[in-house]
Amino acid sequence: MATLSIDPRVSVRTADFVTTDHRMLIDGRFVAAASGKRFPVYNPANGEVITQVPEAEAEDVNRAVMAARRAFDEGPWPRMTPSERGRILWKLADLIEQHTDEFAELESLDNGKPFSVARVGDVPLTVDMFRYMGGWTTKITGKTLPMGMGGEYHSYTLREPVGVVAQIIPWNFPLLMAAWKLAPALACGCTIVLKLAEQTPLSGLRLAQLIVEAGIPEGVVNILTGYGEGAGAPLAAHDQVDKVAFTGSTEVGKLILQAAAGNLKKVTLELGGKSPAIVFPDANIDLAVSGTASAIFFNHGQCCCAGSRLYVHEKVFDRVVEGVSSIASEIKLAPGLDPACQMGPLVSDEQYRRVVGYIESGIAEGARVAAGGPVSGVERGYFVRPTVLTNTNPRMKVVQEEIFGPVVCAVPFGDKDVDAIIRRANDTIYGLAASVWTQNLTMAHKVARGIRAGTVWINCHNVFDAALPFGGYKQSGWGREKGEEVLNNYLETKAVCLSLQS
Ligand code: NAP
Ligand code: MG
Repeated sequence: MATLSIDPRVSVRTADFVTTDHRMLIDGRFVAAASGKRFPVYNPANGEVITQVPEAEAEDVNRAVMAARRAFDEGPWPRMTPSERGRILWKLADLIEQHTDEFAELESLDNGKPFSVARVGDVPLTVDMFRYMGGWTTKITGKTLPMGMGGEYHSYTLREPVGVVAQIIPWNFPLLMAAWKLAPALACGCTIVLKLAEQTPLSGLRLAQLIVEAGIPEGVVNILTGYGEGAGAPLAAHDQVDKVAFTGSTEVGKLILQAAAGNLKKVTLELGGKSPAIVFPDANIDLAVSGTASAIFFNHGQCCCAGSRLYVHEKVFDRVVEGVSSIASEIKLAPGLDPACQMGPLVSDEQYRRVVGYIESGIAEGARVAAGGPVSGVERGYFVRPTVLTNTNPRMKVVQEEIFGPVVCAVPFGDKDVDAIIRRANDTIYGLAASVWTQNLTMAHKVARGIRAGTVWINCHNVFDAALPFGGYKQSGWGREKGEEVLNNYLETKAVCLSLQS
């Protein structure tokens, strides 16, 4: 039995899993890296190493891709009846649901988020994603097409799986990001090589065991642990991969695009954001205060769609900023597994330094700290206090760049002209999401149309559902995750045209 020294609050079962000899899933078997190399996994609440996982490199990537290739070209998965594929996805969803507490513990320990949040958020959303996509397997259809140019033909389209898919995910929602990628690709009949984020491999490795238990055939899902350069780069470049789906930074997204050029594999990208939350004076102010605070502080601001630019009408600016700042000041920082935790540590030392660096740069450029600041007061672990900055200007780094931490810039506006505030909201290279807070229906819908972003929330923020498409305009990405739209990422369309002349 494992010692509980990794964290005394972790259940024995989870501790046993965490401290096991971890293996990657390649071709239906659990294997070490070909080189035998491993790398450490840290607990962000105290910076200690909790376990080691295999370090995949080009040779492991090649083995995994060739297994996925064989499974696609020769195996049962793409040829299985859609209802059978759906049944297996539902079985996987049931298995994950049965292990909800275990997955929530792993997410909390590995990523730092509160156990309670993972338990009611990450894990149920994951389960629902597999169920929702299980339902789509039987509804993927082509069309019959009347032809305009004369002659007698019977023409139709077939929707076929794109083939072997490489998937690369980040660390902010380790299990849920795996589900957003795996579930639709599996529903479409693709085979997969998934690379987990180096910071948070544990829930994905546990998921690999349930994937086998659910009866997904060997080679269909291969799961690798490794670094971006050592494993992610050769995966994105591999010539036997037909498509790469990536979630992460815009910077690495551009590298993925270059790596994909060799064999012109299809690419979808879910990248960064700098999402505005816009509060009009007629909003329900209590709702707007708690909603915009949660827009930025949820998941410690480590959300690509975090509401990191808070635009508030000058009539209610002080009230909203005071409200959000007072919520920020009262948030209890603690390790994610501590029942009192309202906000855990950031995921890593690197991310901690990045976020603190942004707060310091904002202050150096003249921003005022209305709550929080660069010093957390917590001795160990990568904790950053939820921070509200005012007195910013549009050219400051904190206003322009994605911070990916619990830091919001509050900016007043006084424009009567709604187009002016839309222009300010759109003044970014990103276009992932936005929220609008108002009781005025006309205003809400006008702003929703004017914002160049893949999601606009009205009187809410960070609402996710398997049915809602999610993705970016501009440099926030290509393609959509979730909903019916995501199926386009994993399907090819074949036109079949039969002459009826005999
Ligand atoms: P990242 O470097 O873009 O990592 C995302 C994934 O890509 C990870 O699995 C990473 O592996 C992998 N990767 C890195 N370099 C690669 C390469 N050359 N080829 C193929 N794959 C590669 O993001 P990060 O370093 O974890 O975080 C940095 C910043 O990215 C954050 O501060 C935030 O601004 C942004 N971010 C955005 C999202 C989002 O959801 N849009 C999510 C996470 C981060 P490793 O884990 O080994 O690096
Ligand atoms: Mg990285």
